[in-house]
Amino acid sequence: MSDGLSIRAGRLLATPGHGGGQGASAIRIMGGRIAAIEAADPAALSPPEADALLMPALANAHDHGRGLRTLAFGAADAPLEEWLPALARQPRIDPYACAALAFARMAESGICAANHCHNTQDGTQLLAEAEAVSRAARDVGIRIAFALPFQDRNPNVYGKLDPLLASLPAEDRPAVVARANALRGLETNMALIEAIGALEHETFMLQYGPVAPQWASHETLAAIAAASQETGRRVHMHMLETERQRQWADAHYPGGLVPFLDSIGLLSPRLTVAHAVWLRPDECALLAERGVTVSINLSSNMRLRSGRPPLHDIRAAGLRFGIGLDGMSFDDDEDMLRELRLVWHFHARDADPMAAGELFDAAMRSGRHTIVGDDGGGTIAIGAPADLIAIDFAAMSADCVHDDIDPVAILLGRMKAAHLQRLVVAGRDIVIDGRCVSIDAEALERELTAAGRAAFAAQRADDGRIARMQQAVRGYYDAGCHRSGGD
Ligand SMILES: [Zn+2]
Repeated sequence: MSDGLSIRAGRLLATPGHGGGQGASAIRIMGGRIAAIEAADPAALSPPEADALLMPALANAHDHGRGLRTLAFGAADAPLEEWLPALARQPRIDPYACAALAFARMAESGICAANHCHNTQDGTQLLAEAEAVSRAARDVGIRIAFALPFQDRNPNVYGKLDPLLASLPAEDRPAVVARANALRGLETNMALIEAIGALEHETFMLQYGPVAPQWASHETLAAIAAASQETGRRVHMHMLETERQRQWADAHYPGGLVPFLDSIGLLSPRLTVAHAVWLRPDECALLAERGVTVSINLSSNMRLRSGRPPLHDIRAAGLRFGIGLDGMSFDDDEDMLRELRLVWHFHARDADPMAAGELFDAAMRSGRHTIVGDDGGGTIAIGAPADLIAIDFAAMSADCVHDDIDPVAILLGRMKAAHLQRLVVAGRDIVIDGRCVSIDAEALERELTAAGRAAFAAQRADDGRIARMQQAVRGYYDAGCHRSGGD
């Protein structure tokens, strides 16, 4: 915490997209919050300060903290259900290094807060993995909501296992069955919530993470709904990411999946649902009525062939939404600033297209709300948490032939992580001159890559088995097995 820190910049967008910006400004920070916002003398600014545009930092509304990226271990982008078996290629790596590197990369694109849906490497070591993520959140210094994964059904396919087993050679079947039998139960997960709750600190918050409706039993979903209501702890869940999930939901919930979730009390202002690509307008309306927030994840949905987020319907229903990277950004580089531009352009032909202010609100305020709740952040105002970014606006606009071009138009056309100068979270400098300074991310990246190469070489993935599983999974869904009864 840097009490008394003063940040100066040539331009200020206190709430981007809402009203004009301000010129040279100085922001004083005390106790991690903004204490004063004053006009500054442009002549007194240093050259980097004069170049900078200050605005609120961004929130990544859905991610998994992939310090080792999926492409780096050979899981090629593919339809989600066929991609999941390829994640078995991931070598065992240090969970601290994995999380810290992911958080540092996020910081370098202006992210001050992220939902971390934890993917366990070893389901029996979740407490130790959570402790490592909590240390990474403290060391890097961005605000992390850790969703503890509750998955107690359908780890292989959505529906009965028999047709899948029948299409696999006998030697591949035991591992598939073992996977289905190795899931942590509700009681174990609830005990882990207690234990991991003790690890919470200013930048590490715990959430219930029912992985998705097709992956969590009714008993588990209902228990989480009740526990969340009792404790106020938030819930983060994937939902209706792919067409196959939509088809499974329609076959298994004749009265509707979303009304079912409502009937057990899961829909509340404490719930975030990720993806929701296949939501229908009436479902958007019900979620909006219950105060749920959606994280849209456009790049991930393209890369995993999931479809296009129904942003028009989400907005028409008044359903609050944030923006997430899901560890699957378009250039595989955790660039949140580019992601905003993708969302902006991708939906520009929607009937009633978004205003710029809505886009920035999604990334700065609504997404943030799903991580830290309502803390007054996501805007630069006196009393708000001091979570800010400085962007090198001079570099972004060097070719402009006059000085009063709308900075928002330049941001929407050009902003990317390479323009980030500085990230401040709770008054602490996390990124300076575009580089994470709270940890040595470059050294960590070298170490993680070397360790990943060594671990992969020591225990090579069984490419043949993964390919057979992918083919069997594809056949399972092509045959419509997920549309018949049973789980
Ligand atoms: Zn995800």
